[in-house]
Amino acid sequence: MAVLEKNLVALERLNIKGYEQVVQVTDKKAGLTAIIAIHDTTLGPALGGTRIQPYASFDEALEDALRLAKGMTYKAAIAEVGHGGGKSVIIADPKKHKTPELLLAFGAAVEALGGQYICAEDVGCSTEDVKMIRRATKYVVGLPAAKSSGDPGPFTAWGTFRGIQATLKKIFGSDSCEGRTVAVQGLGNVGLNLVEYLFWAGANLILSDIDSAKLQKVAAKYGAKTVPSDQILYTECDILAPCALGGILNDQTIPKLRCKGIAGGANNQLLKPYHAKVLRDLRILYAPDFVINAGGLLNVSVELEEEGYHPALPRFKVNQIYDTLGAIYEIAERNNESTNDAAVALADYRIKYGIGKRAIAPVFHHTAE
Ligand code: NAD
Repeated sequence: MAVLEKNLVALERLNIKGYEQVVQVTDKKAGLTAIIAIHDTTLGPALGGTRIQPYASFDEALEDALRLAKGMTYKAAIAEVGHGGGKSVIIADPKKHKTPELLLAFGAAVEALGGQYICAEDVGCSTEDVKMIRRATKYVVGLPAAKSSGDPGPFTAWGTFRGIQATLKKIFGSDSCEGRTVAVQGLGNVGLNLVEYLFWAGANLILSDIDSAKLQKVAAKYGAKTVPSDQILYTECDILAPCALGGILNDQTIPKLRCKGIAGGANNQLLKPYHAKVLRDLRILYAPDFVINAGGLLNVSVELEEEGYHPALPRFKVNQIYDTLGAIYEIAERNNESTNDAAVALADYRIKYGIGKRAIAPVFHHTAE
């Protein structure tokens, strides 16, 4: 196995079939164990967030990194951002172990990959953390600093809102949220903004979060109903919007769902690809997560354009998620396949023929300060 030393950070290549490059990153002094997974760079350098989570084991972290990296390839291909798919995970408790040393050591590993992988915030990793990582590498996006794009959450949430509209249109023939009931799981960067958009569009809201203080505060603000976190998936509603965890659509949960459509911002909602077909058989319309939650990716990718970042630039493309999802629903219906299969086939086609391949190298406008 190839081992590359960069300062005290060791990068060890793991051979994973179907992935261009996967490295295990270790820096004992900084307490860092991480994985950087690059799935496919046919359309451009891999871009994907850095998740900081206290995984129970290395294998669990690896599985998460691989699944997330592959999802990023599909997301980038459908969103036409001129990037490939990658993701990184740091095995640590973000509340206890997220030190500057750990983030800098991780940044040194990203730097060692020479721009093949560009990192960003994700669950457990904030824009402030990305700012710290920037001190060790320029291969980052989503900094709070000038010349960067900031928190992608509101853009992801707006794209998800547009996706909910497209899903309502397919189910009811009208994309109006007025009087429709939407159950939102998770009130973080994505869920909280989504709730705001849905409120103003006239939706009835049912909310859940494991943080009960936050849940009560948000519910009071919007006059929403609340349900315990182990009940939100089974709440009767028009649209279920998962905005927290992955793997929530599985053999145990799907038979108990009481929604007409699923359209939310969380990554990797299906535990296994076949669960999309199970949903289709139950006539529950599923918005493929990597299509509906591409708003944040669209936003951060704009900062790498030659002209630099302006929030109006991604607006058009984030709004287009409505049309993209609508087209995927039509293709799936025509081909008698699940919406997830239709979206994956579209992404595979684009990768195969290099549609949307990056022609100009990314430009990093931000500075370390
Ligand atoms: P976040 O960490 O800000 O928020 C997650 C929220 O979910 C927290 O409030 C947490 O308390 C809550 N939660 C956790 N477990 C829960 C449970 N069992 N039931 C109910 N609530 C629960 O994360 P985020 O940035 O809002 O991201 C949410 C999801 O969207 C993740 O899957 C992430 O990968 C995905 N996503 C985020 C972005 C983005 O721009 N932030 C982009 C694409 C995809």
